[in-house]
Amino acid sequence: VRSRLPAVGTTIFTVMSALANECAAVNLGQGFPDFDCDPRLLDAVEAALRAGHNQYPPMPGVPALRQALARKTEALYGRRYDPEHEITVTAGATQAIFSAILAVVQPGDEVIVLEPCYDSYVPNIELAGGVAVRVPLRADFGPDLDAIAAAIGPRTRAMLINSPHNPSGRVWQRADMLRLQELLAPTEVILISDEVYEHMVFDGQLHQSAARFAGLAARALVVSSFGKTFHVTGWKVGSVLAPAPLMAEFRKVHQFNVFTVNTPMQHALAAYLADPAPYLQLPDFYAAKRDRFRAGLARTRFELLPCEGTYFQCVRYAHLAVPERDLPETEFCRWLTREIGVAAIPLSAFYGDGREQRLIRFCFAKREATLEAALLRLARL
Ligand code: PMP
Ligand code: GLN
Repeated sequence: VRSRLPAVGTTIFTVMSALANECAAVNLGQGFPDFDCDPRLLDAVEAALRAGHNQYPPMPGVPALRQALARKTEALYGRRYDPEHEITVTAGATQAIFSAILAVVQPGDEVIVLEPCYDSYVPNIELAGGVAVRVPLRADFGPDLDAIAAAIGPRTRAMLINSPHNPSGRVWQRADMLRLQELLAPTEVILISDEVYEHMVFDGQLHQSAARFAGLAARALVVSSFGKTFHVTGWKVGSVLAPAPLMAEFRKVHQFNVFTVNTPMQHALAAYLADPAPYLQLPDFYAAKRDRFRAGLARTRFELLPCEGTYFQCVRYAHLAVPERDLPETEFCRWLTREIGVAAIPLSAFYGDGREQRLIRFCFAKREATLEAALLRLARL
């Protein structure tokens, strides 16, 4: 078969989860919680199903959910998006990002991605006929705005950013966003802002949504995911915010991509969003897990990287007492899964050149018992 993506295999998340299952390892690889969502959200689903919300919703999404998103965005980020023309419900962030790219990128257009980056971005750009221009993040995974400035040229059509950042957990500062806003001001570059971890920012920092900045919001598609926020990654419901002319283009693609998204889940999410407590409490919930997990890791020979947000903790394994510390990242992760019984994700999977830094990512969106079991096994290294 003539491949459209000859260099692409099965995603590392699928590969590592399959290996973790096969080896009965503790799965700290693929990012998903091993605990259930709030029972009230399940009650809301059942109520929606029983109320007969079982047919196609309107193409952009259930109105009550779009209205709830408009209220939440205005309360949190100070910008009013019109639910009728500026908010669309998507089949998770993955579809939102792909449809956004298909809507704005034409063959030959350049799209800037900041590496390391989520593994769907570059294949999405290539499927749209675009050219990914990879700009490295700084060594501390913050944005290198001089390098971004140097990468912007006459063919640059769009740019993808992601804060809080998967895999590093780095969080962009207000000054970073202001500088980006200034850089993009003289251009027509469209910003696709992947904010799926918006409610996992720790230690009193604020999530610097593109929606907060008038000059960025005017050119941005802002992507969120209910899967992350409400512990329901399997529901695959997300959303996009954008100014009306940009959203009109997004919806042209969306309507022929999925057309609409699961109706009862949208009604349930709309009802559940009436109470802001679940997402306002999320930073404390995950910061507590992060702190306990880091305290455990600090007793091992893994070197901890900072974690300002997301539910990911990166570590360097270069100083372990075992000879496997010299393995490349993917092989190290396979060994860790098979022999030690803990699955992780190699950071090399987030780079186009697959670079080796002896860095791996653990997901700590897990029950205490799961994290304890993993730490017990890692302590042997
Ligand atoms: N972007 C990033 C940075 C992610 O980590 C993920 C999923 N883990 C997604 C997008 C996709 O989100 P969803 O599951 O809602 O499709
Ligand atoms: N985004 C999640 C992660 O980074 C997993 C999503 C997926 O499996 N594609 O682990």
